[in-house]
Amino acid sequence: MKFGQLQALYHQPLFDLISKSRAVHLQHWRGEEVQRCSLLSIKTGGCSEDCAYCAQSAHYSTGLEREELLSLEEVMTAAHRARSQGATRFCMGAAWRGVRDGSEKFERVLEIVREVSQLGMEVCVTLGEIGSVEARKLKAAGVTAYNHNLDTSPEFYPEIVSTHTFQDRLDTIAAVQESGMSVCCGGIIGMGETEADRLRMLEVLSNLDRPPESVPINCLMPMPGTPLGDQPAVDIFELVRLIAVTRIALPKARVRLAAGRTRLSREGQALCFFAGANSIFYGDKLLTAKNPAADLDVALLRQLGLQPQRMTSS
Ligand code: SAM
Ligand code: SF4
Repeated sequence: MKFGQLQALYHQPLFDLISKSRAVHLQHWRGEEVQRCSLLSIKTGGCSEDCAYCAQSAHYSTGLEREELLSLEEVMTAAHRARSQGATRFCMGAAWRGVRDGSEKFERVLEIVREVSQLGMEVCVTLGEIGSVEARKLKAAGVTAYNHNLDTSPEFYPEIVSTHTFQDRLDTIAAVQESGMSVCCGGIIGMGETEADRLRMLEVLSNLDRPPESVPINCLMPMPGTPLGDQPAVDIFELVRLIAVTRIALPKARVRLAAGRTRLSREGQALCFFAGANSIFYGDKLLTAKNPAADLDVALLRQLGLQPQRMTSS
């Protein structure tokens, strides 16, 4: 979609916009279904990159303890727990700039993926920058989707990160697409970007050769010690509008209401689901940030008459 079209959609009266996005949603998805994804940090902290939002960057004093790559046993315990709680997708994140074939850490990640993929959940990893060789090997090991967020517009990106570029992100996404893995790619709002930056990000996402299979929309979780540690919360109606426009621009993508749900009311989340969000992160921890407790989410979905997606295989 073109920027002007996205802008026109975004600025309609709210109820017109969410009626339209709901109609698009119902053409492509079961309206009552919400996917629950579990996210585990398999390697925390000490990252070489300077992403201004991130508690895991070694450039900032955030008080976060640096940890080594988790053992296979630790990851499997978390994966079994996620599955028993009803997650149908298991995502694993690592605080690295990227990972290269031939390194010990890559071999260990491949081994973890081979085991986790036996559990029948979708397997997603977010390991930073990779090339075609790594992408092919991850796919062969059982990864279904690779997450690599664009985070914001190409214009605003240099304000947020200086250690890698927007083009680096696009190159990794191209390598992932080439391997046949699905791409999970979205962004963060509330970092001081303009509305135009948010829509520019959607423009880039919707014009990728193959649009992403899932689009996480994160609201910044301000992390003390990072340059964005004092950012105010995102306005709920701006979030709802963005979700609705994402649903219309990327009708076949799962739109994931990702980080920042602890700061949203139940009513706010309900509006996000109506506008087109159909996936959430589930479980009380999101990498290093807080997430609503699993039982609160179960209760919320039940109250709204929404149904958690069920596993199709075991
Ligand atoms: N290091 C890899 C990378 O940067 O792609 C993977 C892990 S990184 C923590 C995954 C994503 O988490 C980031 O791209 C960003 O969108 C999101 N994220 C990290 N910190 C966040 C925060 N404080 N608030 C909201 N989203 C955040
Ligand atoms: Fe490192 Fe990823 Fe955090 Fe950036 S977002 S500092 S690359 S862990």
